[in-house]
Amino acid sequence: MALKNKKSQNFSEWYTEITGENGAKLVDMRYGVQGFVPHRTWSVQIIRRFEALLEQQVEKDGYSPILLPLLIPEENIKKEKEHVEFAPELFWVERMGKTKLETPLYLRPTGESQIYPLYSLWIRSWKDLPWKNYQSRITTYRGESTTRPFLRGREFIFFETHAVFETNEEVLKQVEKDMQITSEIITGELGLPFLYFKRPSWDKFAGADDTYGADCLMPDGKVSQIASTHDLGQRFAKAYNVKFIDQNEKSQFGYQTCFGPGIWRIMAAIIGVHGDDFGLVLPFKIAPIQIVIVPIVFEKNDKAVDRKCKELEKKLSKQYRVKYDNSDNKPGWKYNEWEMLGVPVRIEVGPKEVKAKKITIVRRDIRKRETIAEKQLERKIKSYESVILKSISENAEKFLRENIKEANTFEHLVKILNTNKGLVKTKFCALDKSGEKCADKIQQATDGGKVRGMLFDDKSRASGKCVVCSKKATATVYIAKSY
Ligand SMILES: [Zn+2]
Repeated sequence: MALKNKKSQNFSEWYTEITGENGAKLVDMRYGVQGFVPHRTWSVQIIRRFEALLEQQVEKDGYSPILLPLLIPEENIKKEKEHVEFAPELFWVERMGKTKLETPLYLRPTGESQIYPLYSLWIRSWKDLPWKNYQSRITTYRGESTTRPFLRGREFIFFETHAVFETNEEVLKQVEKDMQITSEIITGELGLPFLYFKRPSWDKFAGADDTYGADCLMPDGKVSQIASTHDLGQRFAKAYNVKFIDQNEKSQFGYQTCFGPGIWRIMAAIIGVHGDDFGLVLPFKIAPIQIVIVPIVFEKNDKAVDRKCKELEKKLSKQYRVKYDNSDNKPGWKYNEWEMLGVPVRIEVGPKEVKAKKITIVRRDIRKRETIAEKQLERKIKSYESVILKSISENAEKFLRENIKEANTFEHLVKILNTNKGLVKTKFCALDKSGEKCADKIQQATDGGKVRGMLFDDKSRASGKCVVCSKKATATVYIAKSY
């Protein structure tokens, strides 16, 4: 049974259906508090797996884990002038029982204002640097007005790294490393391509010198930022007194970066980009169940089939996460159920197969059924591990490539954004404050099209004129509507 909504016709309805009760049961929106989402077990099992991949990767890069409270004292947010931008979005705790707290506490909107006061206590000398900690499997709170599961919430799952260096050069190197980490996991393991941008100055993280963001293209043509990394310069170090004694015995402020792969956004991209009208399509590595075995029995107690299924379950479980579905449901019902949940490989075993020593095997991504000799099974599954990832990666890559168009005039730009999906590549005057007016004009003419920035690795000098104001262009930028 396919989903009622077609992904290609109405992505938004399809997304609501697949995440909910009639889909893969990832969340339950009946909790009754806007923007606060109960995650059901299938989504948590998926998320835990790519969180673990990210944890391994940042630990390889020298980060070690810390775990801090959710509540932060009021004075902390006031220390960094621009960071106060978060103030209107904060959730507050002001009482303990009936007693008013001496200091009001806010729920963390992100980590800077809680982590850096501690860094100022922990870091002493240049010998401590680089200082690299990360937090994962935590939540963050922001008073967002519109909310959508895995895309925008008042409470959402967070992952953040925070590093302190002696120099700004090291910061820039870390920004590049962050992009590599994002690419190795999100593209390499999860099959999600992205474009990595240096954001315009008006779209920076509050208090950062520069912000870099990884944008993934969702099926409705809007981009979604799935990771961001910030060059914080010395601004936060000065606000929170993060100092070290340098090699000449002088006290210096550190240079900082923070990096955040968006756990929720990555989940939304896995659902949206890879999913189809039959449900989720999960990359092999993060599927909570990788192989499901479905017996095709005509008599209730077909011992030979049951025995074969158990034997396969035992054998395959040594290498894979395997489920033998011997429930009372009909085979067709089971096919639908496991397809909805995105289990990458299904094995079907009936009396005919047992007799002929054959196995029917079905790939979830292309829903292709194949009958093979039983002795080929393990080799076949091994090959599927990479074949499935390659296939879903290539589809996503193709979709991204096909939906980047170039515009040379403002009219053309507006026309593309108002009639097509995706990103428009064009020439732009400036990514500092002076370009903001042109960006506003684009946003107004296109119902929300935003300048996402210039590509991180774009070292070319832009030629020609700004598509809006006709002044000399300084950058080739990409424009898209976004989540
Ligand atoms: Zn301009």
